[in-house]
Amino acid sequence: MAKTGETGMRVLFVTSEIAPLIKTGGLADVSAALPAQLHAMGVDVRVLLPGYAQVLKLHPALDQVARVAGLPGEPEVNLLQGTLPDGVPFWVIDCPEMYQRGGGIYQDEHGQDWPDNALRFGLLSRVAALLGSAATPLAWRPEVVHCNDWQSALAPAYLHFAEGAAPCVMTVHNLAFQGIFPSAVVPELGLPWDCFKPEGVEFYGNLSFLKAGLFYARHITTVSPSYAEEIQQDELGFGLQGLLASRRGVLTGILNGIDNSEWNPAADPHIAQPYSAANMSGKAACKLALQKHMGLQADRDIPLLGMVSRFTQQKGLDVVLEVAPQLLRLPVQLVFLGSGDVEIQRKVLDLAHHHPGQVGAYVGFDEGLSHQIEAGADMFLMPSRFEPCGLNQMYSQRYGTPPLVHATGGLKDSVVDCNATSLARGDATGFVLEELTPAALLKTLQRAVAVFQDKAVWATLQRNGMHRNFGWEESAAAYLKIYSALLRV
Ligand code: ADP
Repeated sequence: MAKTGETGMRVLFVTSEIAPLIKTGGLADVSAALPAQLHAMGVDVRVLLPGYAQVLKLHPALDQVARVAGLPGEPEVNLLQGTLPDGVPFWVIDCPEMYQRGGGIYQDEHGQDWPDNALRFGLLSRVAALLGSAATPLAWRPEVVHCNDWQSALAPAYLHFAEGAAPCVMTVHNLAFQGIFPSAVVPELGLPWDCFKPEGVEFYGNLSFLKAGLFYARHITTVSPSYAEEIQQDELGFGLQGLLASRRGVLTGILNGIDNSEWNPAADPHIAQPYSAANMSGKAACKLALQKHMGLQADRDIPLLGMVSRFTQQKGLDVVLEVAPQLLRLPVQLVFLGSGDVEIQRKVLDLAHHHPGQVGAYVGFDEGLSHQIEAGADMFLMPSRFEPCGLNQMYSQRYGTPPLVHATGGLKDSVVDCNATSLARGDATGFVLEELTPAALLKTLQRAVAVFQDKAVWATLQRNGMHRNFGWEESAAAYLKIYSALLRV
């Protein structure tokens, strides 16, 4: 098939979640925005994802375009086609036994990983590889296959053994999730035993999806320059630091962008009143609406700190909860939105229960409320232990809600600490905590609350953040450069 230039280049983007169809975290946002931006730049990009019940409910009348081979010994599956809101075509793999069930997309209703996840995401990877090889039943054949996280990370391994395989880019959105399964699944997935070795898919006696991707992909990217460095070190390498360091020549960190139309305080249907850097009056209305909604005392002047997060160790919520008793002696209000770890959920709800009017919490997933918190809070808390990129700290800057973050990964790459130097330079946008300890967090929170009292400095911080452009243009161009380089060799 003839190669095309950058415009018209055919890219298959493989993902396990995509907003607004199905979302558990940042991967869904990236999977929506990056293909949309590439599409706008003239790339012929198509998205492949599993046919979850949630997706088929939203799109009950998709066109069937092909039947494709499933896992060994399993029947063929249907490939259905639709179009995303921004015009990007997508294919879903229709395999009801694997994807149409209650509970979450990775876990059941009790938070347990689905026992057949190896097969569910093995199928996603295998179909991706099939579409990216000479054996595809479709007329459209990608020049590059772009895989994301462990759920599609077996595709580069399958492609390695396929005829006429397109080169693969493997993006790591979070190295903490690797897709590790017993070796018994190797034949069920149709992988040759040949690749079950350290220089292949094996990881300490098990099969690792992500390691397969990192080993076989032609290029690896991760979602911020700092995280690209950090994952080559013992502390954040999750056992894959050696492999990543050995591939550093083809490892690039590209900061995620944000969807500026979805996250725009001047035109956000979820918030009480629109506002912009030029006219911030609507933000006060958003704060009052949030206070009312979350059962907090209506008070324009008290600093309101917001947090929207998966409730996990990663996000540093335990440290926030540890300093909460001292923090709540300051004149502050706290709002939490999130779900996940049952113990963290309980502690957050307890805190709200014991501090009525000062702490509000909602456990669950609520897209609208996440926008209302970005708009209504004065400050956004994101002291993650590690953070590959993080999106909320960028959303909050755009919403004039300076973030307080730990100096790690994408947080370090996207927030400029407020101090005499950055204020003089004119680029201060938030508060950066060098070390994540309770004492340091409390000190930084106290510093931030003190700055909040200085209305002029606070307004400068807000303005600086609101004027930053975190859009996808630059990042998508960086991906395109990588795709193009793969086609040249
Ligand atoms: P991660 O991908 O590690 O969860 P990110 O900051 O990269 O973290 O992205 C999280 C995304 O998910 C953001 O868009 C955030 O607003 C959203 N999010 C997380 N938890 C919730 C929730 N409980 N309700 C609504 N949105 C949420």
